Amino acid sequence: MTVCYAMPPVRGKLTHGAPLAPLVWFKSGGAAEYLFEPADVDDLATFLYALDPSVPVMGLGLGSNLIVRDGGVPGVVVRLGKAFAKIERRDATTLRCGGGASGILVSSSARDAGIAGLEFMRSIPGTVGGFVRMNGGAYGREVKDVLVEADVVLRSGERRTLALGDLGYTYRHSDLPAGAIVVGATFRGQPGDPSAIQAEMDRIAAAREESQPLRSRTGGSTFKNPEGHKAWQLVDEAGCRGLRKGGAQVSEKHCNFLLNLGDATSADIESLGEEVREKVKANSGVMLEWEIQRVGVAK
Ligand SMILES: Cc1cc2nc3c(=O)[nH]c(=O)nc-3n(C[C@H](O)[C@H](O)[C@H](O)COP(=O)(O)OP(=O)(O)OC[C@H]3O[C@@H](n4cnc5c(N)ncnc54)[C@H](O)[C@@H]3O)c2cc1C
Repeated sequence: MTVCYAMPPVRGKLTHGAPLAPLVWFKSGGAAEYLFEPADVDDLATFLYALDPSVPVMGLGLGSNLIVRDGGVPGVVVRLGKAFAKIERRDATTLRCGGGASGILVSSSARDAGIAGLEFMRSIPGTVGGFVRMNGGAYGREVKDVLVEADVVLRSGERRTLALGDLGYTYRHSDLPAGAIVVGATFRGQPGDPSAIQAEMDRIAAAREESQPLRSRTGGSTFKNPEGHKAWQLVDEAGCRGLRKGGAQVSEKHCNFLLNLGDATSADIESLGEEVREKVKANSGVMLEWEIQRVGVAK
């Protein structure tokens, strides 16, 4: 990758040519042209304001819903560290959560505060930034059911609070503006008993363990469930359970999950996904839509 723009000064950490494979669940793919880990919101806003507007910017959480292509990601990838992982109780039923806080931290903080309704985040291995961007959900609830507002830094460096209605939520989709970074979100639940909340979190964790390959190199659900169908069932009926390409495989345990068996390139994983889409289309007439975000350039 060629460097062709000057980077504004930062207080956090700015790394040129930072490998992204170690930072994403699939453990594959190329480097970020620049990886920026801001010291705080002011650092992020000042940087984006001064950055050449032609430079693309992308947020990165735990990389649990991402294929980073093998040629890497041009521009700046922003990753939020500890300074963005704080959680504060606002009132009896709301929590203000930093954009880098994990789903486990949000759900256990809600339990400690006696706030029910956020248990589903226990099972989604991502950050608040990724949840808000993806409208993450599980077990009948999704972010749009609990979000009050999201604090973002726009690509221009402007700080803005977006209300639920500004985010245009549909299934696993938001209208978050391109290049905007979610630095925090306020979620609302309802009063609940901490032991009942813990029991629900345990139930969810056990159900997950039984049905998904949680300790694998994966990206979670690969395809969105089409209206009236389950993606995993369409993949299974098309004969794709266990299908392999290079070092990539359709999971035997949950066939809407793709796996890196160890040495898969992102090209192996993405082309396996495309092959599955074609087979499903031929078998059922349904063209599956990717849920996993595919970013960067091919090698
Ligand atoms: C085992 C497993 C199980 C999963 N189960 C579920 C599930 O039940 N339900 C579900 O909805 N998802 C599930 N997922 C997918 C994934 O966890 C979610 O999509 C999650 O919301 C991604 O969060 P993340 O922070 O890791 O985002 P990433 O994967 O890092 O990024 C996903 C998208 O969000 C953007 N993004 C990330 N952080 C920010 C930010 N701060 N600001 C702006 N944009 C940002 C990225 O640019 C990208 O477009 C699963 C994944 C795995 C591996």
